[in-house]
Amino acid sequence: MDLHRWHIRTRMHAFAIRFCAAFAYYSGLVALARWWTQRCGRRVIILNYHRASNGDLRSHFLYLRRHYRVLPLEQALEELCVPAQGGARTRDRRTPLALTFDDGYHDHYTHAARLATELQTPITIFLIPGYIDSGRRFWWHEGEQVVRQAQVDTVTVDSQTYQLDRLEDQRALARLVAQRARFARSVAAREEFLADLRQSLGIPATAVTPADDDPSRPLTWAEARRMEEAGWVTFGAHSVNHPVLSYLSDPAEIKREVSECRTALEDQLGRPVRTFAYPIGKVEHIGDHALQAVREAGYGWAVSTIPGYNAPDSDPHLLRRTYSDTSEHWRVVAARTAGVWPPPEGVRGIHIGLPGIGAVRSSARHRRRSGQPVTDGNKGSSRV
Ligand SMILES: [Zn+2]
Repeated sequence: MDLHRWHIRTRMHAFAIRFCAAFAYYSGLVALARWWTQRCGRRVIILNYHRASNGDLRSHFLYLRRHYRVLPLEQALEELCVPAQGGARTRDRRTPLALTFDDGYHDHYTHAARLATELQTPITIFLIPGYIDSGRRFWWHEGEQVVRQAQVDTVTVDSQTYQLDRLEDQRALARLVAQRARFARSVAAREEFLADLRQSLGIPATAVTPADDDPSRPLTWAEARRMEEAGWVTFGAHSVNHPVLSYLSDPAEIKREVSECRTALEDQLGRPVRTFAYPIGKVEHIGDHALQAVREAGYGWAVSTIPGYNAPDSDPHLLRRTYSDTSEHWRVVAARTAGVWPPPEGVRGIHIGLPGIGAVRSSARHRRRSGQPVTDGNKGSSRV
């Protein structure tokens, strides 16, 4: 598809969604759906954010805490299993809701946690200890970065030669990197591929660490501890190295990714870790081995990215989460959280292979000089 036409179509689609969400909100549909959910018995809504600094998170928090009973994730899930007896909590008829952020980006510290503390709104962040330890760029940002940082004009990968002064080749290489990293059969294979590629592109080894002020870099342990001390942030596990668990070939590696994540977090934070979030998190990304590993590792609950609400009879290790994004208008979040409109899929070029990953407007050489991103792959692959 022509890129210009794709951008026009995407903008029209976003406008249509915003218009429909406004209609749902002002017509009373959203309020009706919220009321209906309250009447349906015990429910817990879990929202799933990733980045925190690319929109107006404040307006989301203000809306959500007004219309839902925002609780720490574990408290909401405990109430779901064992309802509170008497007291003020039971008089509050609003549906319990938990706010979760995946991956542990630096902007969770600079934006989400600060806002949570200011508005006294609890959040849960799912951490990846392997990336906190190394401080390296998350693998889903590598496609964009290696193309931008390349010091050569031509590279051959998997018998395919890419001319990096051609926009189509930049996009194709970024797409290939994203796919190879995502579908890797082991973490070692993923890292070996990325290291070999960087070498082929003449990228120095030091270039794998983002700058300290990069909002997309991994959190540090010191930042995590400061957030926890503030009292409005709790943490869950998100695997040691964020592989897609169902794609790993060795069940023993799946087990390590799940159980050692909990151990590492508890060692660093000094508190029990009882929740796990599956990387990427749809059914096809989880698999039977991961489900079993999560149960054996002793996590009380595990969350997916399968959309929907949670009820007392929900599988505690396959809980549903509703996608949310700070770049969206709060009325869109209001409509989706209420279950009215719209489902998140198809809103953007979020999946690898869609045109969104290659929003390239100038050559790699120009981009390398100007410091502009080669692709919008960050947005395109942020739902991990
Ligand atoms: Zn993730």
